[in-house]
Amino acid sequence: SAGVLLDGVTKRYDDDSPALDVDRLHIPGQSLTVLVGPSGCGKSTALGVVSGLIPPTDGRVLIDGTDVTDVSPGRRGVSMVFQDFALYPHMTVERNISFGLRLQAKHDRKSGLDRVEIERRVAQACDSLGLSELRHRRPAQLSGGQRQRVGLARAIVRQPKVLLLDEPLSALDAQLRQQARVELVRLHRELGNTVVLVTHDQLEALSMATHLVVMNNAKVLQVGSPAEVYRRP
Ligand code: ADP
Ligand code: ADP
Repeated sequence: SAGVLLDGVTKRYDDDSPALDVDRLHIPGQSLTVLVGPSGCGKSTALGVVSGLIPPTDGRVLIDGTDVTDVSPGRRGVSMVFQDFALYPHMTVERNISFGLRLQAKHDRKSGLDRVEIERRVAQACDSLGLSELRHRRPAQLSGGQRQRVGLARAIVRQPKVLLLDEPLSALDAQLRQQARVELVRLHRELGNTVVLVTHDQLEALSMATHLVVMNNAKVLQVGSPAEVYRRP
């Protein structure tokens, strides 16, 4: 069911104490799991270890029961949305969204990704995120909220088993953020896949998570549903 397991994972960037030190962390399949904790506690590092962009110093990463510790980021069935969305400024919305798929089609002839399939997926993602009217614009011609939705669309067209979001709402103003939370929860229900989201905002975590992971100082402090986590003393 596309759960994620971090098994004895540590990450050291240098000789200092580890940035991440996790005995065992299970992220249930199909959950919307939120990693929450103060800035610098290791949330982005944990996400990077799941994505494969950050190699752990020790331990194993399992996705959907498969050990992916030595599998490259592109082959893990995960997609990542970055804090600043990292859109290509010279490409239209449509090209931004299809870019990863076009690359995959080129490198992997057996992927079944022909032009028709790519167009179908892009249209579906645009439809799902309210971007259909904006397909021919460039990022500079979009609002912050619209850019964020392009970042999301670009991740979901790859149909990842696990969608990884690093502070996806931090670039939005307060008013948009509330709306974007609701949209993310709806998108998660619609996709039915596993979503892992990082935030330092407790309110955001509480309002969105089906499963909460509270971190501090490189460690996991608490795990459970929002109700379970906040009932404890
Ligand atoms: P935040 O969580 O505060 O939005 P980041 O996750 O980018 O920001 O970084 C968290 C902390 O990690 C910051 O204190 C930042 O200075 C530090 N940091 C990030 N990348 C590096 C790096 N390459 N080298 C050293 N420190 C880094
Ligand atoms: P968070 O996402 O919770 O803000 P990070 O995972 O970004 O935390 O950072 C955890 C710790 O690792 C911080 O102390 C940060 O400064 C450090 N760190 C993060 N990235 C790097 C890096 N590339 N090189 C050195 N230190 C880093």
